[in-house]
Amino acid sequence: QAKQDGRGLFRLYQEHMGRQDSEEFQLDQDIKAALTQQQFQLHYQPIFALGSPRLLGFEALIRWPHPQKGWIAPDQFIPFAEQHGLISRIDRYVLQQAVAQLVAWQAHWPEHCYISVNVSGLAFSEANFATQLLELIADAGIKPAWLAIEITERALIENIAQARTALKELRLAGVKVLLDDFGTGYSSLSYLNEFKLDVLKIDRSFIASMKPKIQDNPVINTVIALAKTLDLLVVAEGIENQCQCELLKSLGCDAGQGYWFSRPVPAADAVCWLS
Ligand code: C2E
Ligand code: MG
Ligand code: MG
Ligand code: MG
Repeated sequence: QAKQDGRGLFRLYQEHMGRQDSEEFQLDQDIKAALTQQQFQLHYQPIFALGSPRLLGFEALIRWPHPQKGWIAPDQFIPFAEQHGLISRIDRYVLQQAVAQLVAWQAHWPEHCYISVNVSGLAFSEANFATQLLELIADAGIKPAWLAIEITERALIENIAQARTALKELRLAGVKVLLDDFGTGYSSLSYLNEFKLDVLKIDRSFIASMKPKIQDNPVINTVIALAKTLDLLVVAEGIENQCQCELLKSLGCDAGQGYWFSRPVPAADAVCWLS
């Protein structure tokens, strides 16, 4: 009976699974439903130049208003989606939404600004990731330089060959490439020679542990100097107060984002930064 009808099979399956398995099964189902029902939304966090407070762009961050469970944070489903083969569908969805947002903002979008999108390392395991993204951009009729992708050190290291090809293709077309969470991943810096990047984002854990005196922050100081040497723009993540902001400015950090400026907000609220 159970083998013949779908529901019986599901019940049988459920009975044989532990609680964790059934929670995982549920999350898997819920993510798939969220994708088809377009439940995911993007919120936008502005990024500002620290010298003159000028808008550089926005980071797009996924938000999930779950129909039963309320808002679910990305840390609670992105790693799961990566492990369960769902991340490339999420990445594609997010890229489509960000591009659609740029189309909507096109008329008053500042030429030098970008929206950056977080993509998982697995994106590179799809052979035509870069080509598909460039097609999406071309079809939308927006400038490639308005879009940036954020990748982590781990994503680069685990897919060196594919990442190199994909990043070259994207950068050649004008799409910016940002290295996210810098300093949390690998102790080897040799990969910085392997890839051409545009922006280095200092992980917020470094910002959170900054000392009030300029000279007491040798690590951040060195990271900023490294970025300058590599001709990369440096963005500090997680700036939460004026003190951190001033200190980073004095240390020569180019730009920053964080609650001090603004939390990630819906597109309808982010639009106020454009004028
Ligand atoms: P991330 O890319 O490093 O994003 C920065 C995180 O820091 C965001 O958390 C943001 O809301 C938070 N944040 C920003 N300013 C501050 C601050 O001043 N203080 C503190 N404490 N936190 C701040 P969020 O949105 O929860 O995202 C967490 C992570 O989930 C992201 O880290 C990123 O790795 C991943 N993620 C988010 N959206 C996406 C997405 O669309 N696709 C993929 N593949 N991953 C995503
Ligand atoms: Mg990011
Ligand atoms: Mg980050
Ligand atoms: Mg992160």
